[in-house]
Amino acid sequence: MRRNHPMRACLFLGLYLLAVGPIQASAQEPSEIAPVEAPDLPRVRIVATGGTIASRAESPTQVSGYSIGFTGEDLLEMAPGIELVADISVEQFSNIPSGSMSVERWIALSNRITEILETEGYDGVVVTHGTDTLDETAFFLHLTVKSEKPVVCTGAMRPSSAISADGPLNLYNSVRLAASPDAHGLGAFIMLNDEINSARDAFKGDTHRVETFQSGALGLLGWVDSDRVVIYREPLRRHTAESEFDVQGVDSLPRVDIVYTYVGVDEFAVKGFMEAGTKGVVVEGIGGGGSPRSFRGASAMMREAGIVVVRGSRTPDGRVNGGVDTLPAHKARILLMLALTVTDDPDEIRRIFSEY
Ligand code: ASP
Repeated sequence: MRRNHPMRACLFLGLYLLAVGPIQASAQEPSEIAPVEAPDLPRVRIVATGGTIASRAESPTQVSGYSIGFTGEDLLEMAPGIELVADISVEQFSNIPSGSMSVERWIALSNRITEILETEGYDGVVVTHGTDTLDETAFFLHLTVKSEKPVVCTGAMRPSSAISADGPLNLYNSVRLAASPDAHGLGAFIMLNDEINSARDAFKGDTHRVETFQSGALGLLGWVDSDRVVIYREPLRRHTAESEFDVQGVDSLPRVDIVYTYVGVDEFAVKGFMEAGTKGVVVEGIGGGGSPRSFRGASAMMREAGIVVVRGSRTPDGRVNGGVDTLPAHKARILLMLALTVTDDPDEIRRIFSEY
């Protein structure tokens, strides 16, 4: 749906006046007035999935205990002027809290976004999503969307009915990022609070604050500022069009689980995952990626059963060499699920974790 807005008409009139000067009704024949072409705006598709950004509370001061109550179209109405940035259309993929996302939904979302960008010819996509699992969905899209065009994932920490709701400006700035030529070839982004993070690096770092998405030691890619979108660095790890993972025609992924470790951890969680048929386990280990002595029996059981184990660390910053690299366990799980669609060879799995 192409949206027209009175401000857009004003912009075109302004351009017209700049080009031809003030209109003098009697001085010129209408045929002498050269028509000014409307500038072609980039085409951006908003794919709405739900979350706090789509939530409504009973009063403007209520910022918890709310529920989903707005559609993607409603959110667009809350961001006046957005029509001047791009030629925008909206589709409602789902309207759920992000805790209800699933692997099946990720696959459908990724394939739909590839179709929007590569078959339908849009210039960029903005995904509105709950923040609780947004870093997982964004990383999945970063690894699987088959396009060089920008995929911007956004959300909000306050319901869109709240005083100082952050959702409308996050949406506006995400459309600016998705419409920016500078955002091409950089994979998927997480954009909230004016901050541009790579979908690979960012994680939800604060339970309530609007600056919740952080990339730890790796840092931001840039900002969406009032004058322009400014990007300082590009992700060098493989993603999107350069990725070897293909979820087209796929409807599920191999089961991968996460085991958290601590002093005294034993094999019981691992036994449960093995009974459930797990194919891979990310072990959230200690320090540089070791695990407590009490976990040795569990490690041996997994080795004997041929389960692929990737070592991680509960220490938030730094690398696990030969393991998850810098990924937190919930993102390493996604990469391992995708890796297991192409190989179960441990050397290949290590290669994948060093390239993505
Ligand atoms: N519970 C919300 C969700 O859908 C939280 C949020 O969006 O911030 O993830």
